Amino acid sequence: MEIKSCPFCGGKAYLEDLHSQTFVAVQCNDCNALGRASEFVNKAIDFWNTRHNSHDNMITAIANFLEINRHRLGNELQRMQYEAMVERGEIKNSN
Ligand SMILES: [Zn+2]
Repeated sequence: MEIKSCPFCGGKAYLEDLHSQTFVAVQCNDCNALGRASEFVNKAIDFWNTRHNSHDNMITAIANFLEINRHRLGNELQRMQYEAMVERGEIKNSN
């Protein structure tokens, strides 16, 4: 069963025995991120890989959110810069 790379750092993950080998979990070799533990190797790997997928989904959702709000945030930033310049007397408020 394939163990996917770490969702946080992209590092290589491996199976780790926990609590005197009663439980196993997948752990990242680089950042020590620990997947959900299970008595079954396949289940532990599945938890890790599923977490990997949900992380990907979260990144996609954030990317979509940023794309949707990019123009709105840009307009807001321009407005704030404009107001700051008016406040400093660099330009006259045309209102
Ligand atoms: Zn990692």
